[in-house]
Amino acid sequence: MADCIFCKIASREIQANEVARTDDAVAFRDTDPKAPTHILIIPTRHVAAVRDPSGEAGEQLLGHLLAFAATTATALGLDEGGYRIVTNTGNDAGQSVPHLHFHLLGGRRLGWPPG
Ligand code: AMP
Repeated sequence: MADCIFCKIASREIQANEVARTDDAVAFRDTDPKAPTHILIIPTRHVAAVRDPSGEAGEQLLGHLLAFAATTATALGLDEGGYRIVTNTGNDAGQSVPHLHFHLLGGRRLGWPPG
């Protein structure tokens, strides 16, 4: 989608600190990390938020993104210490980029509940 920064990262029009990629998803480091390891997992195609993918293809995409996040966590050595995967949806959650993304956070003790 034009003017979507995460679409531009997916298409490599904008450079990101990429750590892994599949045909359907990209994992890259957040530029404002909230933990020692803070990765964003995005679909390469534009989807605004987690509520939007529909039908079988949508469910497959969401499953792929979660599985890819877990694979990325393993590759980055987070399995032993543990990690959190979270997605912000809409204003109350503080979603600031309207392209679906899962945050993968690890490398320190994470508080609960989140703020
Ligand atoms: P959210 O507030 O849940 O929508 O998360 C958006 C995240 O995207 C924030 O943690 C930002 O720091 C991060 N972010 C925004 N632009 C970029 C970028 N160009 N490269 C990497 N991370 C970004």
